[in-house]
Amino acid sequence: MTQKEEFNNMIFSRINNLIKDYNLIKEGEKIAVALSGGKDSVLTLHALKHFQDSADFDFELVAISVNEGISAYREFGVEAAIENAKICDIPLIQKSFKEEENLELDDIYSYFKSACIPCGVFRRNILNKTAYEWGADKIATGHNLDDEIQSFLMSFSRGDTVKFSKFGPELDRIHEKLVPRIKPLWNTPEADVKKWAILNNIHIHIAECPYSSLSLRAKIKHFLNETEAKHPGTKNNVMNSFIDILDVPPTRTVLNECEICGEPTSGKICKTCEIKSIIQENLKD
Ligand code: SF4
Repeated sequence: MTQKEEFNNMIFSRINNLIKDYNLIKEGEKIAVALSGGKDSVLTLHALKHFQDSADFDFELVAISVNEGISAYREFGVEAAIENAKICDIPLIQKSFKEEENLELDDIYSYFKSACIPCGVFRRNILNKTAYEWGADKIATGHNLDDEIQSFLMSFSRGDTVKFSKFGPELDRIHEKLVPRIKPLWNTPEADVKKWAILNNIHIHIAECPYSSLSLRAKIKHFLNETEAKHPGTKNNVMNSFIDILDVPPTRTVLNECEICGEPTSGKICKTCEIKSIIQENLKD
């Protein structure tokens, strides 16, 4: 067996086992894959196709890409998304901030402390609405083990313990209109995702988002990578602490419907409408 075959067997077996152990996908379900064209979402797509081909039950797959309007960046991700969806023979639904919200991230990011704030809110909203309209039972995201540790530490640093309920490979459905997430790469280290893409010569979008260095996630990622290099095992220790905490029953959030748009929200007005009103205020000035 070649090194490539051996590695592919290892990585796909680990993902298949996670899906089976946590029962992430059930017979007859419709799964929407959030496909940015980056290495993690592309591996998620290929891995779910691999699982679909080997499973002894049927389920349906679709991919959804969202173009945020980041010039000289996102169009390359969309290209990779189109090519990989074609290779896997999975239909791709393409959405954009422009079509859905009549704006591009490049034009409005400066109204916020970080571009990631409006970007994440609009993208999650468009992804959820598209998946819901397609009738998806779950949205599969490309969150890998490193992302999960970063999110965990971000919530710690913000004192946002409510977000602890968003950890783990599967999130519960907490509102009829909010499609629950699954994370098939939950226990796959980022280094393995990179290695898979290189060994298999996969067309992925490698460039870093031009806004990413401004984010808290980027700072925590840098800190973790530096600490791991000096103190090997740090990431695993953090992940194990996280798994221990997962044993604590997660805080349940009761969701309302936004008074403006009707989408699920923990408050009276959803984040998307809050962001839209900040943009409107800035446009008036
Ligand atoms: Fe959006 Fe921030 Fe990700 Fe860039 S790094 S795509 S701005 S969330």
